[in-house]
Parts: sequence; C-alpha cells; structure tokens
Amino acid sequence: MVLQDLGRRINAAVSDLTRSSNLDEKAFDGMIKEICAALLEADVNVKLVGNLRKSIKQTVNFKELAPGVNKKRLIQKAVFDELVKLVDPHAEPFKPKKGRSNVIMFVGLQGAGKTTTCTKLARHYQSRGFRSCLVCADTFRAGAFDQLKQNATKAKIPYYGSLTQTDPSIVAREGVEQFKKERFEVIIVDTSGRHRQEQDLFDEMVQIQRAVTPDQTIMVLDASIGQQAEAQSKAFKETADFGAIIITKTDGNASGGGAISAVAATHTPIVFIGTGEHMLDLERFSPQPFVSKLLG
Ligand code: GDP
Repeated sequence: MVLQDLGRRINAAVSDLTRSSNLDEKAFDGMIKEICAALLEADVNVKLVGNLRKSIKQTVNFKELAPGVNKKRLIQKAVFDELVKLVDPHAEPFKPKKGRSNVIMFVGLQGAGKTTTCTKLARHYQSRGFRSCLVCADTFRAGAFDQLKQNATKAKIPYYGSLTQTDPSIVAREGVEQFKKERFEVIIVDTSGRHRQEQDLFDEMVQIQRAVTPDQTIMVLDASIGQQAEAQSKAFKETADFGAIIITKTDGNASGGGAISAVAATHTPIVFIGTGEHMLDLERFSPQPFVSKLLG
C-alpha cells in the first residue's frame, strides 16, 4: 500500500467516525481498529501500532469524557499526534560543525538518488557557509564519476574521483584525505549501489566506512519503495549503521511511501526529502508537516 492510500484510509476512518451521529465508544474502537489495520498493511512495526492504539485510547479516554467536550476535535488531534510520534524517532541527527572536517557517507540501492542527493546536500551546506566538496567512490557503475562531475561542476562544488582506480575504498580514502588537508568542512562521499541488496554491496559499504570513518552515514531511499522499505532499511542499518535517512522522489506518485516503515524499523530520523530532479529540490523533513500532507 502506498502512503497516499494509507493517509486516505486513516482520514476516512476518522471522518466516518466524527461525522456519524452515534459517536460512542464502540464506534471509536472501530476507528482505532481500522487505523491500526491500515498501518499494519503498510508494514509499520506491530509493536509501534500497538503503542499507537494504546496511546489514542488513553488520550481520548472515552469513558471519562467530560460532557460538552468536543469529541471530534479531541479524536482528530489524538490521531494526528500519534502519527507524528510514529515518524519522529526523537533522535537528534548529526549536524556538521564549522571549522573542522565533517565526513558524510551516502548508501543506498542503485537509482535511489544518491548521486543527485549528494550534490543537493553539498550545495545546501555550501549555501550555509560550509566549505563543501564531493568524493565519488562509485567505481562500480560506468558513468557514475561523469555524472557526479557534471552535477558538481554545475553547482560549483569541488570534487574528487578516479577513472582508473577500481577499488572504491582507495578512491574514498584518497579523496577524503586530500579534502581534509585542504580544510574542507563538509566532505560528502557518494558510494555505488546495486539493483538489489547484495552481499557485494554490503562488503563494499563496510570497507568504505572503515576507509573514511564518516561522522554520519545517510541512507537514501526512493519513496516508491513501499513495502520493501522496512526490510531493506533494517538490512542496511545492520551493516552500515546509518544515522539518518533521506527519502527521494517525494514529488512522484508515492509521495513519501515507505518513510514510516523505514523510520519505525530503524529508529532513525529522516533529515531531508528530495522533491524533484533539480539541485534546489531538497527540503528539510519534519514530522508535523509530513503528517499533515499525508492526511491531506
Ligand atoms: P543513484 O544511482 O542512487 O546515484 O541515483 P541517481 O542520483 O542517479 O538518481 C536516479 C534518478 O532519480 C535520476 O534520474 C535522478 O534525476 C532522479 N531523482 C533523484 N532524486 C529525485 C527526486 O527527489 N525527485 C525526482 N523526481 N527525481 C529524482
């Protein structure tokens, strides 16, 4: 189920209840049941759904509602707040510091949007006064370095890569060392992906991580990933222990699909979302506006 359908279903459950003439506890329980069923179908962790059910029941506390209380508003607010909690892991993402080198490594499957997002993020920090640069450690995909070069040149971001070195961890190490010497403050390392999760890819991730010891590893997830998001992000988390997620292509039909599952499965904050193919199409993620959009 894509996220838009999830939003629609939750919205329908809430409005069916709040519009009904018979807003009693039984109908209220029915709404919670429907919301939980929708979340479970969207691969949200069973335990989290259980917590959400409990919290909504406790907040609304149907049996002890004071007469005259606006039940409709209370229920709407309880559902909204609990959904926000679901996408808010309450973990502070890493923030680069000025005056030192901050190394950020990207991981994700091929086509997820890593190379595009690397440049967007480098430009983002550049425009905030950080000396930013890019390292292409993707020696797997032919043309990867050219793509990064083109993007970086357009954005006027210094870059490092090699057309001859085939070991990505060597390229990564050399690039990061050079930029550290030159006192760059944000050094973003792009890595290769594969079409599917593969041991090769995971081995490579670990080697590059060892070579550059990043301050932050970011997993890039395509919004259309849907039901695979939970399993995939868990597998990446176990190997690369990323500390942040960026969801790309939220401008497409999926509109952020998989985000809830990935955050819930890995307790990792989404830091940005990609909203288009252009350099400036990167937005900071925050749970409240995301849930508002989800519920339409
Ligand atoms: P990589 O293989 O992970 O490095 O993926 P790329 O950066 O090459 O991106 C794959 C495709 O997705 C490219 O055509 C990008 O232009 C496109 N893309 C990346 N991010 C976004 C986004 O936020 N929105 C849209 N519409 N397209 C994106």
